[in-house]
Amino acid sequence: MIENNFTIYNTLTRTKQAFVPIHEGKVGMYVCGPTVYGDGHLGHARPAITFDILFRYLRHLGYKVRYVRNITDVGHLEHDADEGEDKIAKKARIEQLEPMEVVQHYLTRYHKAMEALNVLPPSIEPHASGHIIEQIEYVKKILDSGYAYVSDGSVYFDVPKYNRDHPYGKLSGRNVDELLSNTRALDGQAEKHHPADFALWKKASPEHIMHWPSPWSEGFPGWHLECSTMGEKYLGESFDIHGGGMDLMFPHHECEIAQSVAHNGHDTVRYWMHNNMITINGKKMGKSLGNFITLDEFFTGSHPLLDQAYSPMTIRFFILQAHYRGTVDFSNEALKASEKALGRMLEGYRRLQELKPSAESTIDVSDLRRKCYEAMDDDMNTPVVIANLFDALRLVNQVKDGHAKATQADIDELKWVFDTFLVDILGVRTEMAGDSAEAIKPFEGAVDLLLDVRSKAKAAKDWSTSDLIRDRLAALGFTVKDTKDGAEWSLN
Ligand SMILES: [Zn+2]
Repeated sequence: MIENNFTIYNTLTRTKQAFVPIHEGKVGMYVCGPTVYGDGHLGHARPAITFDILFRYLRHLGYKVRYVRNITDVGHLEHDADEGEDKIAKKARIEQLEPMEVVQHYLTRYHKAMEALNVLPPSIEPHASGHIIEQIEYVKKILDSGYAYVSDGSVYFDVPKYNRDHPYGKLSGRNVDELLSNTRALDGQAEKHHPADFALWKKASPEHIMHWPSPWSEGFPGWHLECSTMGEKYLGESFDIHGGGMDLMFPHHECEIAQSVAHNGHDTVRYWMHNNMITINGKKMGKSLGNFITLDEFFTGSHPLLDQAYSPMTIRFFILQAHYRGTVDFSNEALKASEKALGRMLEGYRRLQELKPSAESTIDVSDLRRKCYEAMDDDMNTPVVIANLFDALRLVNQVKDGHAKATQADIDELKWVFDTFLVDILGVRTEMAGDSAEAIKPFEGAVDLLLDVRSKAKAAKDWSTSDLIRDRLAALGFTVKDTKDGAEWSLN
């Protein structure tokens, strides 16, 4: 029996609820993944990081977690899920590539960006295109339930009929009466019986290049279907957590619920979790607004709206400085503030490794661990975890600067808290510049060597050499600080 005090905000009940898994010791979680027709942007980074924290924390609590995050590589239509053009197929025609070539290209780049952000890979990353057979079987069963109909080779979910038996709109809180009273006359050609109905299977038009055979037509599955199908395939008819961005709540997740209930006769998901959106300088991100910044552009600083490059860890830290259900607004000022804060955190972490124990402590770290757990247990309140770590850093700096003392036990406790919460749970890489600890060692040794030469020069009153070393290091971005234990350096 795994003890936990973890509470999560369930969008379905609009309350924070104690987390109780369906199967003792195990957690099944599903998160809507990217549509791979373009480069990853901030809108991809936030859910990926939010649910990475959830994945990491559940594992830390001792659960065996199966984390499924899908790859949407078919049938994601623009605007209206029914009348749009398949985005992947469109891009493929524009660039004269095979659709799967486009998918592979952007998926590789997505994985690279996720690795840079230190987002752990999910346990299973199923492709919609690899589960066409399962999706067809799923549609058959919904047809058997009576909540869908075939119309000119396509299959539609019958929303008004479903809503007579089950509440449609319960997740998003949409006014369904309003939605259903929208009897805007469908023109004679329309295949849908009602505007609220959504496609489970869509007959492909001749120019549509991604299509598969089915009992109804040569076509492709509706977008909402893949998540219901693959979630159930890998996590079962009932599983613990389904996550995604708030923008997916309606219609996507509402449709997923309706499909699952029609398919199984009951709800599939126990906790629905949604991360809030990201704005840029107060505006929604959009290609047409010119403020659409890809992750690569952030990492290289190559977008006109950016003053400079921002490291993946700065982006990650910035996202974690806000609670996942709050909005986040990206601006150069805010990112620079995060960059500074992260720098202070990493410098403190480095100084923590160098603390020398005393026989007694003048600092109190007894509450630190509990406070960090309480913050994480409170619906993953990462900004409070970070605030607690900064409080602890003050103690580290006091000890390091000789203004306070700490026993070995207290130093060990501080190290445990930073390694657990900063490194393992928040997933912040503590190495500099994203390099591995091994790669950084010779570099650190070289700077230490320079400072040794400088102190020898000082001892010999060779001020011109010692000043030269200090000034040249400063020009390269190093700060050198003389302490009673010798010189210390940090890279700004
Ligand atoms: Zn989904």
